[in-house]
Amino acid sequence: MDIIDGNRVAADIIAELKAEVATIAGRRPCLALVRVGDDPASVSYVRKKEQTAAEIGVEGRVFLPPVSITQQEIFALIDQLNADPAVDGILVQSPLPAHLDELAVFRRVSPEKDVDGFHTVNLGKVAQEDPTGFVACTPAGIMELLRRSGVDLKGKHVVVLGRSLIVGKPVALLALQKRAGANGTVTVCHSATRDLPAITRLADVLIAAIGRPEFVTAEMVKPGAVVIDVGINRVPDPTRKTGYRLTGDVAFASVAPLCSRITPVPGGVGPMTVAMLMSNTIKARRLRDKS
Ligand code: NDP
Repeated sequence: MDIIDGNRVAADIIAELKAEVATIAGRRPCLALVRVGDDPASVSYVRKKEQTAAEIGVEGRVFLPPVSITQQEIFALIDQLNADPAVDGILVQSPLPAHLDELAVFRRVSPEKDVDGFHTVNLGKVAQEDPTGFVACTPAGIMELLRRSGVDLKGKHVVVLGRSLIVGKPVALLALQKRAGANGTVTVCHSATRDLPAITRLADVLIAAIGRPEFVTAEMVKPGAVVIDVGINRVPDPTRKTGYRLTGDVAFASVAPLCSRITPVPGGVGPMTVAMLMSNTIKARRLRDKS
């Protein structure tokens, strides 16, 4: 069994991106990071994105509107960033407070600056296999992690657990694409799926993105499968200084011995998400040079 080291793969990509940024003439790529409120996970994600941007030479501009911001006010902020010629990419950290319509906010971002890949146009481009758009960072990171780990999905049965717009649906579409590395036979499962273990046991590659700690147990996995654990769940743990530990959607200790490859949590898919965000921001900067 191999543990896929997302930290190492992401570090390789970050080093490549740093070298690429150094070749860009003129203005540095610029990423606007919008975080509403103080959700602790969002605070740490945005901090990490800001740090990585700084590390590779991307300018990060952080906007911290108060949790009381209205829909119209956040639209106005997005409109201002859309119109700013010095901003290449815009990221609005999810989740937004419940009083805001998150999907409407994602759609407000100009598709050319939508480095999170959540806009209708960019998700549509994934479905149409049009490479000019932006692919959502976590799904893109999963595909890149598989590619760099030598896992070819061609002809394999890929089972995706979860159908969110952020992970499940786009990664299913990517695995299905008729191109090198992809070309899988894809099944998507969700909360209404009957006899889930019978389906997951058919997976050559199992991608778990449901947000339930250690949900995938050894009985649900075919021996020899590749398991990608997307889940990031905070579980109370009084022995830690923080009071919690991070765990994935897969019961790692019992599942890992069965697999041919598996990603850990933390240190699997998570670091790839940030690397792909940087890659999308550099792509946005280059596309704006051409437009
Ligand atoms: P969502 O809550 O948006 O979606 C969860 C999906 O799982 C839904 O489709 C839901 O089904 C399905 N589901 C929930 N419970 C079950 C169940 N018991 N059986 C079968 N299906 C179920 O989550 P996200 O996609 O946003 O995130 C999933 C996980 O990935 C979370 O832990 C999140 O923290 C993590 N994540 C990690 C990232 C990273 O960088 N590594 C980035 C983004 C997310 P239904 O549609 O029917 O409700």
